Amino acid sequence: MENCVFCKIIAGEIPSPRYFEDEEMIVIKDLEPKAKLHYLCIPKVHFARFSEMNEEQANIVKRCCQKIPNLAHKLGLAGGYRVIVNQGDDAGQTVQHLHIHLLGGEKLKDF
Ligand code: 5GP
Ligand code: ZN
Repeated sequence: MENCVFCKIIAGEIPSPRYFEDEEMIVIKDLEPKAKLHYLCIPKVHFARFSEMNEEQANIVKRCCQKIPNLAHKLGLAGGYRVIVNQGDDAGQTVQHLHIHLLGGEKLKDF
């Protein structure tokens, strides 16, 4: 948790505009967008990745996911979006605090 950039953003130690916030999650824009619109949905609880998720954290992630369809309309993603979670080195996970990428705002390339 120390030196976790997302914990610092959540705590307000690093300023970052919030496009949504409730008691369990914030939504910010990615610093280096990989699409016209690129948001990060970040649960406020710190845990690194899926493989470390306990039951309570899994329920938080479930509720975060359930908020995405409604949020997407408000975030300019009504035309569709891609939902990505990078897990571990092979996926290129760089921040060890679980987060959900939302990409859209344009026609996305196949991958
Ligand atoms: P990962 O590769 O771990 O799935 O995604 C981490 C993402 O966080 C990257 O796309 C990176 O651009 C973004 N990121 C890293 N540091 C910051 C930051 O300080 N602010 C914001 N808004 N995004 C960040
Ligand atoms: Zn963290």
